[in-house]
Amino acid sequence: MIMPNMHYAELKESYLFYHIAQKTGAYLKAHPGAHLYRLGIGDVSLPLCDAVIRALHEAVDDQALKERFHGYMPECGAPFLREGIAEHYRRRGIEISAEEVFVSSGASDELGDILDLFDRSGSSLVIEPAYPAYVDANIIAGRKIIHLASGRENGFLPRPCDLPHPCDISESCEYAGQCDLPGPCNLSGSCEATKADLLYICSPNNPTGAVFNREQLQEWVDYANANGSVILFDAAYEAYIEDGTLPRSIFELEGARTCVIEICSLSKTAGFTGTRLGYTIIPKALIRNGMSFNAMWIRNRTTKTNGVSYIIQKGGAAVFTEEGQRQIKESISFYKENARILMSALDRLGIWYCGGKNAPYIWLRCPDGMDSWGFFEYLLNEIQVVGTPGAGFGTCGEGYMRFSTFGSREDTEEAARRLIKLLGRDK
Ligand code: PLP
Repeated sequence: MIMPNMHYAELKESYLFYHIAQKTGAYLKAHPGAHLYRLGIGDVSLPLCDAVIRALHEAVDDQALKERFHGYMPECGAPFLREGIAEHYRRRGIEISAEEVFVSSGASDELGDILDLFDRSGSSLVIEPAYPAYVDANIIAGRKIIHLASGRENGFLPRPCDLPHPCDISESCEYAGQCDLPGPCNLSGSCEATKADLLYICSPNNPTGAVFNREQLQEWVDYANANGSVILFDAAYEAYIEDGTLPRSIFELEGARTCVIEICSLSKTAGFTGTRLGYTIIPKALIRNGMSFNAMWIRNRTTKTNGVSYIIQKGGAAVFTEEGQRQIKESISFYKENARILMSALDRLGIWYCGGKNAPYIWLRCPDGMDSWGFFEYLLNEIQVVGTPGAGFGTCGEGYMRFSTFGSREDTEEAARRLIKLLGRDK
């Protein structure tokens, strides 16, 4: 009998969005015709920009002509798009070559597939609250996961010195019960077991909206280089950073080329959630045990994919033109205004939150000691506002709620008004 990958049995039910859909569905059944103000969605609501639409149309026309028709595309991406992305980095002062850019169908695909590059016996560090796919992809791959909780005390931006003490990680740690180092590991090199092989860092973060500054991110880069680890840097929301002092790419930092794979997406940057396009940067200098991850990924892609559609890549290339950049910034500004509306409501209510300024998510503390699901129900039943309960992103997300700013202006404004009316009653 063929044995299935038994790690699938370890996966928790994909509870969060299923449960939200169940609860909102039940509400609508009981209140036919009610309108819900959805601040839970992670999908964009604005269409693709004109420059992209024009490029998509032109590419469709190319496919109708014998002399301009394209069949299979190069597995790692069309040269015009790889070069366009590399140039986009260079304009920001980051030296990336086109051969270091790999075009993908989106970040989700890459976050799972990229695990092919690493020995399965290694550990993966996931900073929580976290985008649920990190944990699930690692469970499926059978990797050991180190959960690093973050919280309000560190602004949801933990440092390497917050890594758990070896004896806290696993009872099977070889130092269990013998190690007398106090508190979090001091990274002296004496605690082998605290070393994470693969590190997931998402900045700006989903769900907390928190963004690592240069010094904080540099600590992780230094940690990875010192330990021979690799950082998987999820930059899906980099375009939302408006504070020029914050790094939009981890390659802005010294030493990143020898320890980082950066995974990017055009989903939230340019509205490609349904069109599907992303890219991954794997520097040629990223080498472990004599093996080049860049060369390995070429081998992987040429084996497992036949490239992304010509039409979609043409649309994607338009994002990196001057016109495309100007137009996507207009959409991002629209979502930013939604964020400002929600943040000003929370400021008025005196509710603690982070995110929103350099990210499309706002992460707020549930008022009056309510738990995440309790607050979710309260908002749904009292004012028909739907958020995403923080507990769905890891246990340390309990007591928090995520608001997304991707909704329509009308819904966002009305949700803010309703929040003020409901939660400001006693203020
Ligand atoms: N990474 C993060 C942090 C996300 O929030 C998302 C989507 O919501 C993705 C990756 C996936 O993006 P894509 O649509 O490119 O698959």
